[in-house]
Amino acid sequence: MIIVLKQECTPEQARSFSETLEHEYGIRVNTWVGTQSTVLGLIGDTSVIDIDSIAAQDIVESVKRVQEPYKKANRKFHPDSTVVTLPGGQKIGGGGLALIAGPCSVESEAQICAVAERVKAAGAQFLRGGAFKPRTSPYSFQGLKAEGLKLLKKAKEKTGLPFVTEIMDVRHIDLFLENGVDIFQVGARNMQNFELLKELGKIDRPILLKRGLSSTLEELLMSAEYIMSGGNDRVILCERGIRTYETYTRNTLDISAIPILKKHSHLPVVVDPSHASGIAWLVEPLALAAVAAGADGLIIEVHNNPAKALSDGAQSLTPDQFDKVAANLRAAAAAFGRTVD
Ligand code: PEP
Ligand code: MN
Repeated sequence: MIIVLKQECTPEQARSFSETLEHEYGIRVNTWVGTQSTVLGLIGDTSVIDIDSIAAQDIVESVKRVQEPYKKANRKFHPDSTVVTLPGGQKIGGGGLALIAGPCSVESEAQICAVAERVKAAGAQFLRGGAFKPRTSPYSFQGLKAEGLKLLKKAKEKTGLPFVTEIMDVRHIDLFLENGVDIFQVGARNMQNFELLKELGKIDRPILLKRGLSSTLEELLMSAEYIMSGGNDRVILCERGIRTYETYTRNTLDISAIPILKKHSHLPVVVDPSHASGIAWLVEPLALAAVAAGADGLIIEVHNNPAKALSDGAQSLTPDQFDKVAANLRAAAAAFGRTVD
């Protein structure tokens, strides 16, 4: 962190400010006295320093971070890539290609079990399905809630596929744990629900953290930091498209997010081409692009009857379509030297 002090700041004020910083944050301060201004260079862990409170000091002209404000999620402090491994041995990260597939919403036992069987046969290692749904309209289908969790558990018993489902409320954490939720999804709308993130930092389950609709990559990493600073370091980042001025797609898939996140963080990165596009035929090309850009996995919506789906039918693949997409994704991953079994 670099702090430029105002021209009128006296040497005595600069010295006293440096000492306060060193004392409060356990860092070292280097001082350069120029002809126009004095510059302080802070050395050490500056991630806990509130940049706004520095900027608010009378003697401070400007302040700039030169080190990222996230530490636990930062590759600089953890050079090896994190691999999230589930008790059944399924992995996200580590060179393979994780395929997470299933309906937007769990609708019935027959539906979730049929889709689970099909995506498993196509090579998916994880099932997805929403039980508590974040819908724009309160009049839209809100999910089967606790019943949906039970049905996901049944589908897991039948197929052995661990499942990912979205948590929206801290009050549901115990219910999710009781129902054996394998991976807790934090949806785009809750990426900055800090109280939820803090509670998820205390549990022993991986968290699939989706990028907010209009969040920067640094904000996404800071949200991961919230979970990790609570003690849960099994966070999977998810790029699911951001809102832009484009109207031909539901969102705009930010392909550059993949290499950037992987450069700055050691956490695995998964891409959701379904919510990024909103259109079933666009899922395959976006998913292939994500593999080429280095994504560790994909989360794809698959429905046994998209025309009748209670949510996100337009972007859902049929099981037959998913068969073809999964085969092409595996072939693409293998072509890029990934280990795909
Ligand atoms: C979902 O996965 O069904 C979902 C609502 O995702 P997002 O939070 O990315 O919109
Ligand atoms: Mn959906």
